[in-house]
Amino acid sequence: MLDPPNFVYSPRSLAIIFDFFYPPVEPRRLFVPSSLRTARIRMQYFINRQNLSRFLLKVLSARSLFALKEKSADYEWAKFSTDTVEHVVTGRYRAAIPPKMFFFPPSEVLDSPEPFPSAVLGVKSCDIRLLHTSDGIFLGGSAEDDFYKRKRADTLLISADCTDCKDTCFCVKMGLNPWPEKNFDINLSPIAEGFVVECGSNIGEDLVRQSPNLFQKAIDQQTREKEKNRRAVAEKVAAQNSRFDWREPSEIVAASENSTLWKDGSISKTCVECDGCRWVCGSCYCFLLGETQGFWDKTRTWDSCQSAGYARVAGGSNPRREKYQRLRNYYMCKLVYRPKNFGLLACSGCGRCIEVCPGKIDIRESLQKLSGAIPRK
Ligand code: SF4
Ligand code: SF4
Repeated sequence: MLDPPNFVYSPRSLAIIFDFFYPPVEPRRLFVPSSLRTARIRMQYFINRQNLSRFLLKVLSARSLFALKEKSADYEWAKFSTDTVEHVVTGRYRAAIPPKMFFFPPSEVLDSPEPFPSAVLGVKSCDIRLLHTSDGIFLGGSAEDDFYKRKRADTLLISADCTDCKDTCFCVKMGLNPWPEKNFDINLSPIAEGFVVECGSNIGEDLVRQSPNLFQKAIDQQTREKEKNRRAVAEKVAAQNSRFDWREPSEIVAASENSTLWKDGSISKTCVECDGCRWVCGSCYCFLLGETQGFWDKTRTWDSCQSAGYARVAGGSNPRREKYQRLRNYYMCKLVYRPKNFGLLACSGCGRCIEVCPGKIDIRESLQKLSGAIPRK
C-alpha cells in the first residue's frame, strides 16, 4: 500500500485554500433604483405655500401621497388626500419612524408585485442615506428583491431640509449635512415666503417643468436665505455634539472587537433586549420568512439580531449567545461590515435608537468610550 503523500502547507498555499472556500467579499456597487435619480441639480426654483398645495394636488391625481403630520413634538407619516393636502408639512426634523417602512414594511404578504405609484414628502437627509443602504441590501446583491424594488422604483421622493434638530441628532458626525444633496426627486428648502426647490432627477425636473405657473426661478435673495438657514441648522447639530470627538467610526469599532468594554457592562449593561433600536433604525434589514394559514402565502416580518434566538442554529449552537455579543453585532453590522461590503456607513446619525432606548444607551457615548479605549496609531 502506498503511503499517503506528505503534504506541506505553506502559509501561501493555506491562503489559497482559504480563499477558495471563503472568497473575499468585493465591495458592491450600490444600486440606485432609477438610473435617472442622480444629483443633477441645475436650476433652483421657488414655490409659495399655496402653490405647493396646488402642485401636490397634481401629484395626487396620479399617486398616493404620504407626508408628515405633527404629533406632540414628533412627526408621524400620514396619508393625505385632496381634502387634506393643505395640511402637509415638511417637518423641522425627521419623523419618529424612518421611511423604510414604505418599501420594507414591518410585515407583508409576498404576493405578485403590483404598481405602487406613491409620493413620500418630508424625507430628510439622514433618511436618504438609510434608504440608500437598504438599496444596497435589496437591490445591490446578486439577486434583486422584486417587492422592495417595485415600491422603491414607483415612489417619488420629495425630500426637505431640516430647519431644526432633536437633541439626539448627530448627522454631521456621520459625514452628512442636515439637508439632502442627492438621491431625491425634488427637494424643498423652507424659507420665509415658501420653498426653494431643487430637482435631483429627470422625473422631478419634468414634474416641475410641467407646472410653469406654480414654480418661478429662485432669485439670489431666496437662495441666500436657504444657505443661511442650512448653515444655522448644521451649526446647531455640530454644537450639540461637540462633546463627542471619536475617530472614524468603522475604525474604532473594528479595532475594539475584543474590547472588554462590550462585555464588562459599560456599553450593554442597561440593555433590556426590547429590540426598540432595531425597530426604529432605517438601515436594519433582517426578516423572517413564514407562511400564513393557507401555506401558499409567504409573509415576511422584521427580525432582529438582538433577539437571543436569532443566530441559533440546528443543534442549539449560538454564536451570539450573550447579550453583549448581540449589541456588539449591531455596531459591527452598521459601522464595519456594511461599509466594507457596500461602501456606505449604515448609520446616518438620525438618533432614533437613542431616543427609543429604555436603557438610555446612546450610540454616540458608546463610540466615545470605544474611541478612548483604543490606542492611537
Ligand atoms: S444606528 Fe441609531 S442613529 Fe444610526 S441610523 Fe440606526 S437608528 Fe439612526
Ligand atoms: S433599545 Fe436599548 S434596551 Fe432596547 S434592545 Fe436596543 S439597546 Fe437594548
